[in-house]
Amino acid sequence: MFFVVKSIYLCRKLFKMILPKIVIAIDGHSSCGKSTIAKALAAQLGYIFIDSGAMYRAVTLFALRTNLIADGKVDEPKLISLLPQIKIEFHYNPEKQKSDTYLNGENVEDEIRQLPVSLHVSPVATIAEVRAAMVRLQQEMGKNKGIVMDGRDIGTVVFPDAELKLFVTASPEIRAQRRFDELSAKGETVSYDTILQNVQERDYIDSTREVSPLRKADDALVLDNSNMTREEQMAWVTERVKERLG
Ligand code: C5P
Repeated sequence: MFFVVKSIYLCRKLFKMILPKIVIAIDGHSSCGKSTIAKALAAQLGYIFIDSGAMYRAVTLFALRTNLIADGKVDEPKLISLLPQIKIEFHYNPEKQKSDTYLNGENVEDEIRQLPVSLHVSPVATIAEVRAAMVRLQQEMGKNKGIVMDGRDIGTVVFPDAELKLFVTASPEIRAQRRFDELSAKGETVSYDTILQNVQERDYIDSTREVSPLRKADDALVLDNSNMTREEQMAWVTERVKERLG
């Protein structure tokens, strides 16, 4: 029995090593589970997972901490001038079995997911200079392939030649409910209506901004997961990967 299990394990490992590595770009609307899919897929394939939204969130946290956002308005020239001082990294956290986001050496993974950052991240992400800096970093991370990256412009701008592109979406109400459940489970007191409004606002800003607006790449496959379980989504995505890897 032990040999059978060990052989299967080794075969799978060998299979992963032999297969050519590809780039998988997962774009879509806010709070539709892109990161969850991307993370699971990366683990399955032994790929690197990068949550590009976390990078824009980290820049937003920096702007909030340095008082560059007041009454919802971002002091763009100041933030642009301070961009060279912002260092964003991902470090694997073995306890959580996932990477945490670091801003200038500090683990900010929890703080960047909280509402103050969510409320201001989309305006920060419209700034061309911020995007250029993040895109450069993201392309560097993916230069050796074997990466799953999720975001808004990954298949259109960051990796236009990605071998597999997915566009994930779900209705705003379902996305807001999922986010509400997630934050409530963490003990945060938030109202469903505030979250729904934030989801709709982010959709609007993300899809109408001038630089790299959120849009489906022509060659992306659409996954509307409004009525799908996590298992159904993973089964669907795994099939698409198999098709691409032959
Ligand atoms: O994915 P997440 O919702 O955490 O992303 C936070 C915000 O960062 C988005 O609402 C969007 O404004 C911005 N973003 C972006 N481009 C990306 C990833 C995220 O503009 N590639």
